Amino acid sequence: MNKLNIFSIYIFILGGVGCGIFQEKPGVTPDSVVRVWAENETVPVPAATGADAADDPAIWVHPTVPEKSLIIGTVKHFGLEVYDLYGRLKYSYRTGNPNNVDLRKGFRLNDGTVIDFAACSDRAANEVALFRIDPESGALREIKPRIKSALAEVYGICLYKSAVTGDFYVFINGKDGSMEQFKLMPIGSDGIAGTLVRTFKVNSQPEGLVADDRLGVVYLGEEDLGIWKLRAEPTESKELTFLEESTPASGRPIQYDIEGLAIYPTGDTTGYLIASSQGNNTYALFERSGRNRYVGSFAVGSHPSIRLDGSEETDGLDVTALPLSGPYSKGMLVVQDGFNKTPEGKATSQNFKMIRWSLVDSLIFRKGQ
Ligand code: CA
Ligand code: CA
Ligand code: CA
Ligand code: CA
Ligand code: CA
Repeated sequence: MNKLNIFSIYIFILGGVGCGIFQEKPGVTPDSVVRVWAENETVPVPAATGADAADDPAIWVHPTVPEKSLIIGTVKHFGLEVYDLYGRLKYSYRTGNPNNVDLRKGFRLNDGTVIDFAACSDRAANEVALFRIDPESGALREIKPRIKSALAEVYGICLYKSAVTGDFYVFINGKDGSMEQFKLMPIGSDGIAGTLVRTFKVNSQPEGLVADDRLGVVYLGEEDLGIWKLRAEPTESKELTFLEESTPASGRPIQYDIEGLAIYPTGDTTGYLIASSQGNNTYALFERSGRNRYVGSFAVGSHPSIRLDGSEETDGLDVTALPLSGPYSKGMLVVQDGFNKTPEGKATSQNFKMIRWSLVDSLIFRKGQ
């Protein structure tokens, strides 16, 4: 083999790994799992078909007009995109290599403005990037300075607002299992700074993170192991509690990787923890409180009359219980779709699917009775 050929193969392999074009077929979804369908989907992300590009969504609920609510999605080698509830692209920002995104409302800056803001993990710069969300248009504007992480490669991220103190925190993890917690404080007239308050460690690659503000806990998905729970206040114990029913070994229809996590509240302390069970294209639900017992699983299949494909190999997801417009009276679940198709059934680049929660609610809980 001559030098040029070796070089070409090398580039091909590097390109393949970097863009994730070695995706094969999604895993098999068990027949026993309840199927729902997507109500809508976002436009495909700006990436090649087959590239692992879209990753994690966050739902921003408009303060007064629910139908103006938006979905912020990460596109790994591009930036952030903002979609409306019909999946149309509203804004697109080149912001580096954002992996996961989360948001919170009600942060007071030093100039007195109270903002909604999003945080994403930027793998290009190994930083946390923060963006204020325009309360009317939903447009994003970056907040300075960025928060430098000491992790080898930032990966998963979530925000936490303490119900005890009102303080805001960022939890961020790296592929080696390390995790940092930063306290967010206003700086200058309209900036936000992060101060490292705690570090943690799990043994293998984590990603999914979500905080339950009311209950003061953070859930962490270790991709090939299961879900951990830890106390979120920086003054509390760093002990991790394992969710025993979050593994295939528990006999539940769960297959690694454990990916995106989100919380659907049904009351002050009741509701569900949702986890993407990426290996079998399903979503597992656990009780929000107590021992987080397993509740059930569902998949998002295709719906012939709506002409939407289902979702497979989901990375990130987000959910809101707030009533949005139209079919989303009980809220909306948004999931990344690893294998997106056009209405004609042709493979296209990845996107995000929107599911009305009432479908999940009626099917899964009726089944569980
Ligand atoms: Ca993926
Ligand atoms: Ca997220
Ligand atoms: Ca992952
Ligand atoms: Ca799909
Ligand atoms: Ca589609």
